[in-house]
Amino acid sequence: MPIVFDNRFARKFPEITTRQSIKPDGKAQLVWLNKPLWSELSPDEEPPTNLSEWIGGLEPWPGTEPVAQKYAGHQFGHFNPYLGDGRGLLLGQVLVDGKLQDIHIKGAGPTPYSRGADGRAVLRSSIRELLASEAFNALNIPTTRALALIKTEGKIQRERVEPGAMLARTAATHVRFGHFEHCFHRGLQDTMKSLWQDTIEVTWPHLADASISEQFAQVVKSTAEMIASWQAYGFIHGVMNTDNMSLAGETFDFGPYAFLDDYEPERIFNHTDAGGRYGFLQQPGIGLWNLKRLAQAISPLVSADDLEAAQESYEPELRKAYLNLMTKRLGMLSVPADKRMSLIGGWLSLLEVNKADYQLSFRDLIDSVTAQEPKGILAQNGDSWWREYTEAVENKPDIEVMQHVNPWVIVRTHHAHRVITAAEKEDYSLLNDYLNVLLNPFSERARKSQWAKPPTAEEQVSQLSCSS
Ligand code: AMP
Ligand code: MG
Repeated sequence: MPIVFDNRFARKFPEITTRQSIKPDGKAQLVWLNKPLWSELSPDEEPPTNLSEWIGGLEPWPGTEPVAQKYAGHQFGHFNPYLGDGRGLLLGQVLVDGKLQDIHIKGAGPTPYSRGADGRAVLRSSIRELLASEAFNALNIPTTRALALIKTEGKIQRERVEPGAMLARTAATHVRFGHFEHCFHRGLQDTMKSLWQDTIEVTWPHLADASISEQFAQVVKSTAEMIASWQAYGFIHGVMNTDNMSLAGETFDFGPYAFLDDYEPERIFNHTDAGGRYGFLQQPGIGLWNLKRLAQAISPLVSADDLEAAQESYEPELRKAYLNLMTKRLGMLSVPADKRMSLIGGWLSLLEVNKADYQLSFRDLIDSVTAQEPKGILAQNGDSWWREYTEAVENKPDIEVMQHVNPWVIVRTHHAHRVITAAEKEDYSLLNDYLNVLLNPFSERARKSQWAKPPTAEEQVSQLSCSS
């Protein structure tokens, strides 16, 4: 059976959407297709040979009713009412295992919400989004997914002229906090109410009949859990504006993101973020700030006390999820919680003082517990932490668990850079090679691959451009 679309969003919300089709930018060449994800969407039918024409807007994708969504949002702390899909289109929704999934194309041409910009996406940023979303999925971190990448013939002006691309992605929903801010700002109370109910039904069907305050509490919890995963895996989103916050708590709109190489929690990666608002250590606080903007927006629907109570669960939920993940990463499931907290604190200080690689240090710990003697960073400078740790775990660290949560390979900026440079010359072999291990990040193959290596001093990329 071909993909069957249920274009519920376009049907139900004409007042916050504009219908339009994908605007082609020359011929479309399929660079990458996520075959496992495709077969989830379309179990019995192979991808069509003209898929790139569908994505590139050269032929209509049967069953889709593309729309640009209108939303608003707080960008770097300031309200902006003029946002919306400026280069993305929601093609429609597809029923997968009883749940709807959005299919969306990024780079589909200008829309009424483009604010004079070109409506396009470059190959560089599309590859970066593809790598991160699939790597996240392999690490079990909630995320939108990459379905397919095409290269167009477009030559796109950014800091330099770059090849254009379009990325097809799936998500539980493309409804952002900013959708509700738009409804609030424009006094669209009925739309807001039905949008809220619809998004909850689509994302958490079991909460369809719950009260709005219970539903909001779920949004708070999912957001807290998502950000806890970012903190545990050293991920810096880079642009946590409320228009980039999915109601479903999926990591969304990958822009100038980075994973920590050396553990330098204070470093700022996004060069347009001069004040450091979206730095690594700021993310938990910004998550709550964003939830407050959402709470304010939906305040016509639910009492202030209920909204307040739900927000109070944010910090404990985030702490619980973070402690859980770090407990697994450090293999200390049998250790009492307060001791685990103190060991996590000690571990992070050790990495920071020694500028140790955030990802590979966890593998050093696995090597140490396997050999029953300190290795890597622990051998160099971590004697007292190692003693405290071995005493706490009583020589019974959970090695199996550790091996399945501590990746050898993550998206590193310098590796992504190499992959992109090759892809811009139409060599996609590095992209496929990198993806192969990102999808199996705990494997021996990943360990032995070139992609496990942290950057040398020369390879360090200090700041990332926001342009995409
Ligand atoms: P972002 O920072 O990518 O999340 O984008 C912020 C806003 O700018 C969103 O409303 C985007 O749709 C819009 N936008 C970003 N890049 C472009 C572009 N090249 N053309 C049109 N709109 C864009
Ligand atoms: Mg965005």
